[in-house]
Amino acid sequence: MKTGAAARAAVPDSGIEGPGLYQLLVESVRDYAIFALDAKGYVVTWNRGAERFKGYKAHEIIGKHFSTFYPPEDADTKPPLELAIAEKEGRVEDEGWRVRKDGSRLWANVIITALRDPSGKLIGFAKVTRDLTERRLAEQKALADATRLAEVEAANRAKADFLAAMSHELRTPLNAIGGYAELLKMGVRGEVNEQQKEDLERIVMSQRHLLGIINDLLNFSRIEAGKISYAVEPVNLPEVLDAVIQMIGPLATAKNIEVRRGDCLAGTIAIADRAKVEQIIINLASNAVSYTEAGGTVTVECGADGDRVWARVSDNGIGISAEKLEAIFEPFVQVGRTLSTGHHGTGLGLAISRDLARGMKGDLAVESRLGEGSVFTLTLPRRLKPEATGDR
Ligand code: ADP
Repeated sequence: MKTGAAARAAVPDSGIEGPGLYQLLVESVRDYAIFALDAKGYVVTWNRGAERFKGYKAHEIIGKHFSTFYPPEDADTKPPLELAIAEKEGRVEDEGWRVRKDGSRLWANVIITALRDPSGKLIGFAKVTRDLTERRLAEQKALADATRLAEVEAANRAKADFLAAMSHELRTPLNAIGGYAELLKMGVRGEVNEQQKEDLERIVMSQRHLLGIINDLLNFSRIEAGKISYAVEPVNLPEVLDAVIQMIGPLATAKNIEVRRGDCLAGTIAIADRAKVEQIIINLASNAVSYTEAGGTVTVECGADGDRVWARVSDNGIGISAEKLEAIFEPFVQVGRTLSTGHHGTGLGLAISRDLARGMKGDLAVESRLGEGSVFTLTLPRRLKPEATGDR
């Protein structure tokens, strides 16, 4: 070969015998399998790289056909095809699975070059193989990860859309049930006796309860689908706490629970969506009332710390065990449902509250001890520069 002759001509200057150097070079290379096949594809030489990739010692493989390296599905077709192309075009390149001596597979880049004598007669083939298994596996893993992620996202979106559509559809007939029950109760359709009135009252209560659950679902699926927008403005926390305490009052009184307003400095102002802050704190406070025995106390307070403000709802109720603490923020998780708390939620309240808090660049955290009580803390960004408005 021309290139070979030219290269060999330079060798004598180095003082090493030409063919000896080449042999040494090829044999020593560990990162490439370099070996020769005869014109029919039988292995005639073997180097260290080949031994390393394929697991055969030279004496185990020399004389065997190179189709040995191909997986069964390719062994009959690929080797003759590759040799035919190499013979016709001078070389062929392929990337694919090959089989090691122990049966395991390697992903290889293979180049087969036809070797001809000076008269042009085919005397065999040179085969250079690189082991790309690790790269291939990394690529496959990256692809699988990306595919899985896309599937999970699509599934989540589908679920959220489904929940949103369902909840919406359910609300319409529920509103009709409530409306007609109210009409009957008012006697618009004729006189109603006391017993019928009580029954109608129960229908209305159940309707409201169901509506509450469906609103939770709708809320949750909207948050999940990223369809919630936040009307962010300065929010005066002491005012929000007062409003919440007023709203929660009847529920607490009915259960003989005292709701206390702890410290909350005037001028503790968050940058948030007021309605959502209220929604979160009402949820925390009504949970606190629900999960506290009669005679207990619920305390609501607020404060500021650096660039954050916090609102805290604590109770001395049943508490939450350490292993359940994170789980309660998961959707649909309810702990201790069997306790006769008289509270029939969906297990979505805290999931929604935390999502809303985070949507406003805040967070919702809990500390609790079983049997001693719980402390839920909502943190939000603080308004640092008071503007010249009438904020207290
Ligand atoms: P729901 O109240 O509708 O069950 P939530 O998401 O609001 O759903 O609460 C999840 C669970 O966390 C509740 O079922 C309850 O077990 C627990 N939990 C919430 N607040 C308290 C609290 N203040 N004290 C004890 N357990 C609580």
